[in-house]
Amino acid sequence: MDKRSIRNVTAGLLLLFAAAITACSEDPLVYITETGGKYHQDGCRYLERSRIPILLSTAVSIGYEPCGHCDPPPPPSGASPPGESQELYRLNAAGVEQPEEADPARMTRAVVVRHVDGDTVYVSIPRPPRGVKRYESVRFIGVDTPETVHPRKIVERFGKEASEFTRSYLLNQPVFLAFDWELRDRYDRLLAYIYLADGSCFNAILVREGYAHAYTRFPFQFLEQFRALEREAREQARGLWDSKE
Ligand SMILES: [Zn+2]
Repeated sequence: MDKRSIRNVTAGLLLLFAAAITACSEDPLVYITETGGKYHQDGCRYLERSRIPILLSTAVSIGYEPCGHCDPPPPPSGASPPGESQELYRLNAAGVEQPEEADPARMTRAVVVRHVDGDTVYVSIPRPPRGVKRYESVRFIGVDTPETVHPRKIVERFGKEASEFTRSYLLNQPVFLAFDWELRDRYDRLLAYIYLADGSCFNAILVREGYAHAYTRFPFQFLEQFRALEREAREQARGLWDSKE
């Protein structure tokens, strides 16, 4: 490499570095708590009980507002907070036929703040719709991941893998919640479809990738679709359907 191309590469790297710094300062990490509706600077005394890192732009788009105590950075220009009055988006009532046809813009925005197992998490919802609290346990509709305490070894191991899969995908991530016939189960957990920022349905991903059975004991909007995804996973011997395991 001659001197000139070295200089060009160096200049290019510097530009990249500057761009990265600009991006960081425009969209820094801020912190939310499990139950609050504000976002904070690191070190704020309201972060004593829980401290969940999140990008400023994400915090604002989910509906968190700046803390009045620690004076965190203001919402970036162009950030679009959710509307004031969110309604429950029930996919059965909306007549959504396929998981990918659902509209994330109508869903309840939340952040996964605690992981329980493959099909249950806790979420923080800064602007909950009527009938929903700011901090909720959510059981995913239409799926059942293997118990992590099952006596059979294979099943137990897949319970752990499913649990780890959900944790790695969802913990501290923004999600969009959609509902169905029943809002809650008998343990008072919210029953929801978990949508990701890219519009994909995490419940469907769990079944398709072989981390969960389609749970068909109670009716839900995508029952037939989830059955088909389970068949596909079984035929492809994915995850818990892999007989060699
Ligand atoms: Zn604060």
